[in-house]
Amino acid sequence: MSVREEFDEWAASGKDRGMEERHWHTAKHVLARMPVERGDTVVDLGTGSGYALRALRERGIGRGYGLDGAPEMARNARSYTDDPDVGFLVGDFDDLPFADDSVDHVVTMEAFYYAADPHRTLEEVRRVLKPGGTFYCAVNFFAESEHTHAWQDSISVDMTLWSREQYREAFREAGLHVAEQDAIPDREIEIPPAEAFPTDSWETREAMVDRYRTWGTLLTVGVAP
Ligand code: SAH
Repeated sequence: MSVREEFDEWAASGKDRGMEERHWHTAKHVLARMPVERGDTVVDLGTGSGYALRALRERGIGRGYGLDGAPEMARNARSYTDDPDVGFLVGDFDDLPFADDSVDHVVTMEAFYYAADPHRTLEEVRRVLKPGGTFYCAVNFFAESEHTHAWQDSISVDMTLWSREQYREAFREAGLHVAEQDAIPDREIEIPPAEAFPTDSWETREAMVDRYRTWGTLLTVGVAP
């Protein structure tokens, strides 16, 4: 299945809003760290419901562009806001529809690992960023967070499973300085008491704690020279 087929289906069944609710636990911390200024242009890769841009507009950014490979996602995102300064585009991470040196900041939440060629995506991010622009890349699927690895079995799109070090190396290879890397735990998701396990989703409580409280989402911040 293509990105379009897989995620159009997710959008049609309302998973975009479900992800927004869950991802917000960690996404709000990622967004709060972004050094956005009034009037900035920000691109959100794999925007889903578009919540990241709605939140950043409240902090005064000038223009937000949400890119998504699934037209139904972009359509849903459009329907959740009537803000004329937020635009939603259908496109692929491989080929960003923005001019060189034109974007102040790029953010991506729980989407980067779906890139067909993640190195190429990083080069594209580097190309569109202005000097000093930042890339805030958050991924909850990564090597150290072992209890996420099985997700690949239920998703038809090939996923990139890099370690923390591989993220830093790949950013540097693409010409981005690595300013910060940090695992941001999800402290909000409710973890049931030990006697409730196994649940539908988790064999053990330890696995759930490791996934959410120990690792959460891995943020790597790149800065364009
Ligand atoms: N950022 C949102 C959505 C995450 S789901 C959130 O945090 O909830 C991942 C999103 O990335 C989906 O909407 C999917 O359609 C999009 N996506 C995946 N691979 C893509 C690609 N190669 N190009 C563009 N969008 C892609």
